[in-house]
Amino acid sequence: MAHPKRKWSKARTSSHRSMWKLQAPGFVECPQCHKKMLRRTVCKNCGYLDGRAVIAVGEEE
Ligand SMILES: [Zn+2]
Repeated sequence: MAHPKRKWSKARTSSHRSMWKLQAPGFVECPQCHKKMLRRTVCKNCGYLDGRAVIAVGEEE
């Protein structure tokens, strides 16, 4: 009898919410200084969040 090879594709399986925790916990690169930082947090290095300086860190433009 014809039978599908798998129920879900790999992409569909890995895109499931239950799989998210196995990945790195929300680390992104700062668009300003390109350092690794947590998502949706102010960058510790340059104090930027969403393209604007939120906290004053050392040098200012
Ligand atoms: Zn930064």
